[in-house]
Amino acid sequence: MSVYYVGIDIGSTAIKVAAVDGGGGLVASTTAATGSHFHRNAQQALERMLAEHGIARGAVALTVATGYGRKLFREADDSVSEITANGMGARAAAPTSPPGPLTVINIGGQDSKAILVDEAGHVVDFAMNDKCAAGTGRFLDVAARNLELDLEELGDRHLGAQGAPLAINSTCAVFAESEIIGLLAAGHAREQIVAGIHHSIARRTARLVRRVGLVEAVYFDGGPAFNRGLVMALEEELGRSLIVPAQPQITTALGAALIARDMA
Ligand code: ADP
Repeated sequence: MSVYYVGIDIGSTAIKVAAVDGGGGLVASTTAATGSHFHRNAQQALERMLAEHGIARGAVALTVATGYGRKLFREADDSVSEITANGMGARAAAPTSPPGPLTVINIGGQDSKAILVDEAGHVVDFAMNDKCAAGTGRFLDVAARNLELDLEELGDRHLGAQGAPLAINSTCAVFAESEIIGLLAAGHAREQIVAGIHHSIARRTARLVRRVGLVEAVYFDGGPAFNRGLVMALEEELGRSLIVPAQPQITTALGAALIARDMA
């Protein structure tokens, strides 16, 4: 019988589950909203992923939980910090990156991080912003609502912007919201405002990155990495092309699954 290893990342906004096989290859993943019932929602997401991929519960040899709500998932065999799991997952998901260290940028629902990892995916240094919504996915959610746009539209709107991105100078998400409303009232195009928002997040992220070290290979993950406009703004601010995985939200769950495999 095949054996699998599961990582479950209970984030502030979304739960991500990933399973790897004995060779460390990703075989299944899923995402679900975290909501207020972390434990129940995490259990349901795990059961759904296993059922969808025809994996028997008994075939899961080890489960490692990570993320903000990891301590609440009592069924896990072990837990690791999201920094450790993110570093491990990024290294595995960026196999063609140049040899040497990797700078990992994670923008989540309510925090953002820069992590420097070595060749093996071990954390060398990290910096985190978990005190302020500016520079996080939460800011994008609020900005999209203010602009009456779907979150998924922000990337294309950015790509359609004419002229320089508008300056969003507020360092606080609450004041930035007033600034966005002011720009709309002054008649500016949504596209240029969106580009300004992405550059404001990118500038904050670049400051975090410089605290840990910007190396040649830079990997970007977390839900906001789906946003092509934000990717472009970060590339401009950092002067690097970014490695963005096809499924950017599940890197940390993948890392936890690989750590489960190593533990086993
Ligand atoms: P966490 O681990 O903190 O829960 P995630 O990495 O799951 O965070 O990211 C959640 C954030 O991802 C949401 O706040 C949202 O802004 C963003 N997001 C999710 N899906 C998309 C998408 N398709 N396009 C743009 N942003 C997205």
